[in-house]
Amino acid sequence: MAEKWRNWAGQQTCAPTRIERPASEEQLSEVVARAVRDGLRVRPVGSGHSFTDACLTDGVMVDQSGMQRVLDVDPVSGLVTVEAGIKLHRLTAELHRYGLALENQGDIDKQSLAGALATATHGTGERFCNLSANVVGCRLVTATGEVVEIDEARAPDAWRAARVSVGALGVISRYTLRCVPAFRIRRIDEIRRAADVLADLDRLVAAHDHFEVLALPHTDKVLTYASRRTDRPAAPPGRVTAWWNDDVVSNVGLGVACHLGRLLPGAAPGVARTLTRVIGRYEQLDDSYRVFAHQRRVRFTEMEYAIPRVHAAEALERVRALIVDRRLPVLFPIELRFTAPDDAFLSTAYGRDTAYLAVHHVVRAEYETFFRAVEAIMDEYEGRPHWGKRHFQTATTLAPRYPGWQDFQAVRARLDPDGVFTNDYVARVLGPVGVGRAVTG
Ligand SMILES: Cc1cc2nc3c(=O)[nH]c(=O)nc-3n(C[C@H](O)[C@H](O)[C@H](O)COP(=O)(O)OP(=O)(O)OC[C@H]3O[C@@H](n4cnc5c(N)ncnc54)[C@H](O)[C@@H]3O)c2cc1C
Repeated sequence: MAEKWRNWAGQQTCAPTRIERPASEEQLSEVVARAVRDGLRVRPVGSGHSFTDACLTDGVMVDQSGMQRVLDVDPVSGLVTVEAGIKLHRLTAELHRYGLALENQGDIDKQSLAGALATATHGTGERFCNLSANVVGCRLVTATGEVVEIDEARAPDAWRAARVSVGALGVISRYTLRCVPAFRIRRIDEIRRAADVLADLDRLVAAHDHFEVLALPHTDKVLTYASRRTDRPAAPPGRVTAWWNDDVVSNVGLGVACHLGRLLPGAAPGVARTLTRVIGRYEQLDDSYRVFAHQRRVRFTEMEYAIPRVHAAEALERVRALIVDRRLPVLFPIELRFTAPDDAFLSTAYGRDTAYLAVHHVVRAEYETFFRAVEAIMDEYEGRPHWGKRHFQTATTLAPRYPGWQDFQAVRARLDPDGVFTNDYVARVLGPVGVGRAVTG
């Protein structure tokens, strides 16, 4: 019987013809070549943390959790070569042993490196790009099973395409990343008045290495995460404080509140106000990778849009107003983050200073009404949806938002002319790839 697969949120499921688990690049090449011989499509999968149908296939799913080795580390240059399936928590712990770190990270570290890069996963900080900007080179297994070396000098277009590929070019077997010396950060989480933070947003973002706003729907409050890099010794919070903030408030409390809002929509504003009173000031000073990553136990679904940074405060105000005006029982915070521009063809931050605005809803809640209304606002700012998060765009609506779209498609047509790596999601958001020998599955 075919093995079933489901994503982290449990809302995307499929039954691939087979799930392959190669333990080396050589085995990976054989797996891909065999799939093509059998006339099946191939879909690489990481940790399944994408909310979209990005990983779904009825062909061959390639799970690289057996490919997590660190292959080479140069502590002087900071160049590190790893197998593409390595999970971020493993990678960052290994880097720390060599006195290195990723220059920035997202909210969690459960993703595989390849999965995180393929969707342009990002953290926050106006001086830092998303993770994919640190890719110096990679090796890609194409539909013939051939391994192609990609870096800026050898293949500049392929390098700009492969950094954020949505899995549409082939299966990446290893990456070389540029890392930075390990560093510590001091982060302060606190509730503030939304009006004060939004009026002063540019200064706050510039004054911190990593600044994030979490607007609490139905209230006039936001929670801010404000981090600065520091040379001070680590002083992690005590166990009880960490348990209260990381487990009780951020997970149990949020989960209970969100489900209450779902079951009793009329109670949402009252629940939201209670939430603002429970969240206290929380300070952490620790190695960067320990502070960046959170535990997320409440299962939710999410949409996130990258918009030009200049519209950040206005867009957030509009989404806050939308929730109140339509009386939507949404209690999950609206998240606002910031990154620098970069030049990967499909990077959501391509060529512009970017703000990321994310909305969430607990699983089992009807999310589409809310997300479509938010998407309509983001469309007005030429928003680019996160490739791993919910959205309703197609290749037709997305192409004009990416100046490097045609360049990406040219690389795709060259590397995967028969669409072996095109599943329904890729076909919808990137369109079909050139014509060629038919493949099924
Ligand atoms: C709780 C939670 C928190 C999150 N926080 C953040 C955040 O802070 N910032 C952010 O930007 N995003 C965030 N995300 C989204 C997440 O980072 C992305 O969806 C990411 O792609 C998930 O990584 P993954 O390993 O699970 O990849 P998957 O979801 O398994 O795969 C994602 C894509 O990568 C492709 N892929 C996987 N392996 C390869 C490979 N070897 N070669 C080529 N393509 C490959 C897949 O085909 C697919 O298209 C979060 C998601 C969750 C569930």
